[in-house]
Amino acid sequence: AKVWKTEKPFEGTPQLSDFKLVEEKLADTLKEDEILIEAVYFTVDPYIRVLELPTGLPAEQVARIVDSKAKDFPKGSLVLAHVGWRSHAIINVKEPMNLGYKPAIVPQVAGLSPSLWLGIIGMPGVTAYMAFLERCDPKPGDVVVVSAASGAVGSVVGQLAFSKGCTVIGSAGSKEKCEWLKSLGFHHVFNYKEITPVDALKKYAPEGVDIYYDNVGGEFTEAVLNSLRPNARVLICGQIADYNRKRDEVPNPYVKILMAEAKVQGFLIFKHLDDFPRVRKELTALVQQKKLQPKETVTNGFQNMPQAFLDLFKGANFGKAIIKV
Ligand code: NDP
Repeated sequence: AKVWKTEKPFEGTPQLSDFKLVEEKLADTLKEDEILIEAVYFTVDPYIRVLELPTGLPAEQVARIVDSKAKDFPKGSLVLAHVGWRSHAIINVKEPMNLGYKPAIVPQVAGLSPSLWLGIIGMPGVTAYMAFLERCDPKPGDVVVVSAASGAVGSVVGQLAFSKGCTVIGSAGSKEKCEWLKSLGFHHVFNYKEITPVDALKKYAPEGVDIYYDNVGGEFTEAVLNSLRPNARVLICGQIADYNRKRDEVPNPYVKILMAEAKVQGFLIFKHLDDFPRVRKELTALVQQKKLQPKETVTNGFQNMPQAFLDLFKGANFGKAIIKV
């Protein structure tokens, strides 16, 4: 088998010299539940830059089964295998591969290339479907911004948004990409190398943004976050502008949000004044039942009010600062 390897983790922007092609000998015979596969299509994805697996460079492939000792994996059929950058592999179909993937037969569907199982019907398409449709709550009329919109994930997000009746704004890095997005039905597209996201949003989303599907991060994200409308949804899917940072640079907190699938939500109490009576009743009961403990620092005298206020910023108050007149 021919195998691409890296000798050390990437540092900064990956270089061709980081990669080395080596030969590996595979076993001569197959054991029960094993198949011998030969790669037909590979995918390369941005996450390869940031994921370091003990098994080497990760990649899914559509492979042909050259020999088989596994039920339901007949010789000659195509299989999805997550076995890295290698031309041939022997895998046990009952054991998980890289990232927990299981081998799956690629169905033959007339008119569809098997390579689509690595893209629009594969990991990027499933990502777009689940992250956008099932997590962003798109509604007709929503203004949706998608970055890296012509890419594997972004182009699916944009088309799904369009199908939901949203107004779709996409960005890409070339004229050709922008033209393709227009042909897909994107309402507004812009080349972020020619117009800044801030200016593009002023032009195409003057009323603000309801859904931001972030594939890029960096200044783009800052610009969109400053344009959010009330109750906007933000999905941090990727931070590609950031992947080539050096190890000793300050970590990007959006990567943490992504990896933890954390939900970040804003809240402004002054928009919820009608809820006060209901919640006050609950709070009163909790205090009476001693399930909530109050704590106050009481400053005596109206004349001491300015000092009590200034003390807040020094931490002089312990619990709620109150002035007793
Ligand atoms: P793409 O097919 O979109 O390919 C990457 C594209 O990103 C490039 O073509 C380029 O397009 C754009 N790009 C590269 N560098 C920059 C930069 N510095 N600033 C702005 N744009 C840049 O990749 P995918 O669709 O596979 O992935 C898109 C994003 O989604 C990535 O960040 C990826 O890591 C993430 N992702 C996350 C998943 C998850 O589970 N959270 C799953 C799959 C992908 P252009 O010419 O427009 O600049």
